Amino acid sequence: MSASSVEEPDELLAAAEARTGLSCPSCGSSHVAQVLGDNGGISYVCTACGHSWS
Ligand SMILES: [Zn+2]
Repeated sequence: MSASSVEEPDELLAAAEARTGLSCPSCGSSHVAQVLGDNGGISYVCTACGHSWS
């Protein structure tokens, strides 16, 4: 049995969280994911409270 071809969104988000090493300025959570911003820059979103910033 192999599920290696299935990309779980949760796993991708967890990987993104692990790379940031940041804390949410709103709630202080370390569950911060790095995302692409509208202008091609980098933004961050807290997966705990939903706060986003760049
Ligand atoms: Zn937060």
